Amino acid sequence: MTRTAGTGTGAAPTRFDSVDPRTGAVVGSHEVADEAAVRAAVTRAREAGRWWGGLGFAERRRRLTAWCARLAQRVDELAAVVSAETGKPRDDARLEVVLVVGHLDWAARNAQRVLGRRKVPSGLLMLNEAATLEYQPYGVVGVIGPWNYPAFTPMGSIGCALAAGNAVVFKPSELTPGVGRWLADSLAEVVPEHPLLQIVTGFGETGAALCRAGVGKLSFTGSTATAKKVMATCAETLTPVLVECGGKDALLVDVDADLDAAADAAAWGGMSNAGQTCVGVERVYVHADVADDFTDRLVSKTRTLQTGGEPGAAFGPITRASQVDVIRDHIADALAKGGTALVGGAESVRPPYVEPVVLADVPEESRAVTEETFGPTLTVHQVTDLDEAVDRLDAGRYGLGAAVFSRRRGEEVAARLRCGMVSVNSVISFAGVPSLPFGGVGDSGFGRINGEDGLREFARTKAVTRRRFVPLLSVLTFGRSPRAVGLLVRLVRVLHGRG
Ligand code: NDP
Repeated sequence: MTRTAGTGTGAAPTRFDSVDPRTGAVVGSHEVADEAAVRAAVTRAREAGRWWGGLGFAERRRRLTAWCARLAQRVDELAAVVSAETGKPRDDARLEVVLVVGHLDWAARNAQRVLGRRKVPSGLLMLNEAATLEYQPYGVVGVIGPWNYPAFTPMGSIGCALAAGNAVVFKPSELTPGVGRWLADSLAEVVPEHPLLQIVTGFGETGAALCRAGVGKLSFTGSTATAKKVMATCAETLTPVLVECGGKDALLVDVDADLDAAADAAAWGGMSNAGQTCVGVERVYVHADVADDFTDRLVSKTRTLQTGGEPGAAFGPITRASQVDVIRDHIADALAKGGTALVGGAESVRPPYVEPVVLADVPEESRAVTEETFGPTLTVHQVTDLDEAVDRLDAGRYGLGAAVFSRRRGEEVAARLRCGMVSVNSVISFAGVPSLPFGGVGDSGFGRINGEDGLREFARTKAVTRRRFVPLLSVLTFGRSPRAVGLLVRLVRVLHGRG
C-alpha cells in the first residue's frame, strides 16, 4: 500500500494504491474518503435504505439470491481479487468466496422467518391484548472490515444487514479495497436502482469518520485495540456497535483422540492462510500420555509445507508487512523463555514469508501464548487431562473459537469452554455452517454475525400490543378500583405463589 499526497506540503494523501504482497506490484488505486465524502455516502445510503426497507422481505430475498447466483458464477473472478490483494493461494481465496455465497444465501432465505412480524403469547394477565414482535431495519449500517478474509468477514455483516432491510456503507481495510469495490459493483448489477452497498476507501480516519457519520449501527471486525477506538468514537453519538476482534484459539487433544486427524487439524488450522485467521489455531494442549505421538505427527505434517507465492504453495505471505515484526518477536520471546523449536525457528521469518514454526515447552506467560501472533506458528503444551486445558484457556483474555479432539468428552468440554464457537473432532467447521452465529467473548468482542443471531444484530426489536377487548380487571388507568388491584394480586398468588 502506497499513499499519494494531496496538494501542498504535508497535505493528507488523496489516493492510495493496493499492492500484491507477493510481488509488491500495484493492483489498484483508490480514493481516500474524507469526512465529507463519508457523510455524503451515508446520506445517499439513507435514501437507498428507505427504498430497500420498503421492498419487503420477499423482494429483497429475490434480489439477494440473484446476487448470490452472480457470486457463484463468478467465484474465480472475486477469488482473483482476493488473492491479488492478500497474496493467499487461489484455492484458499476460492474457498473464501464459496463461504460467502453459502452465508449470503442463508441470510436472504431466512430473514423473513427470523425477523418478520409474528404473534407472541400475551399471557393470562394480559389476555385482552394481542402481542406482536418484529425486527425493523436500522436504515443504514456501517461496516468496517479487516484484510485477512476481505470477502468472507465483512460479508457476514453486509449479508445480514442487507437481508434485514438496511443499506450498507462499507470501509474495507486499506490493504484490500479492491475486494470491497468488487462486491459493491457486483451488487449494483443486480440492484441498480439505489446504491445499496457503498464503499468508502481510505485509512483509519475514514473508518473513524464512518463511526461519526450517523449510521444506525456500526459493525466492526478487526483487532481488539482498534475495536476500543471504534467503540470510543461510536460512544460520541451513542451509535450501537458490534465488535468482532482477535483471538488466541486453541486445539485440545484428549488421550482417546484420533491423533492423525488432530495433527492434521492443528497443521491446517494453525498454518493455512499463513496463520492469519481470527479463528486459526495458535496453541495446542495435548494429553501427556499421547503428547509424543501427536507431536511427531504434527511435526511431520508441518515440516514439509511449502511457503511462497507459487500456485502450489500451502500458504502465502504475511499480508500486512508490520505483522512480521510481531511474529518474529513472539518466536524470539518464546525461545528466550525456554521454548524449543521443533519445526523452524527464528530463521523461519523471511519477509514477506514466514515458514512453519512449531514450538514446545513455551511458558504460559510468553507472548506466543497470551497474545495473537497471526502467523504460521503453533505452541504445543502437555496437560495432565482436558480439565487442565480448559483452565488454561479460561485464564486467557480472548474467547473466539476452539477445537476439541476427543472420542468421549468432546461435547462436554465444548460446552465448558469460555468462547463463542467450538468444533469437536474438526477445526473451524463452525464458520462453514450458515445457520450458526459467529463471534466471541472477552477480548474477542461481542455480538454475532451470521445465523439467526446475526440477522437480529442488524434490526431494531419492535414490540407492539393491540387491545382486543376491555379487560375485566382494568388496572392501567387512574380510574381503577382498589378491588381490581386486590383481585389481581390474588390471581397472581393463585397462578405463581405456590413455589
Ligand atoms: P485493524 O484493527 O488494524 O483494522 C480493522 C479495520 O479498522 C480496518 O479497516 C482499519 O482501516 C480500520 N481502522 C483502523 N483504525 C480505525 C479507527 N481509528 N476507527 C475506525 N476504523 C479504523 O485489523 P486488521 O485489518 O489488521 O485485521 C486483523 C485483525 O482482525 C486480527 O486481530 C483478527 O483476529 C481480526 N479479525 C477478527 C475476526 C472476527 O470475526 N472475530 C475475523 C477476521 C479478523 P485500515 O486498514 O485502513 O487501517
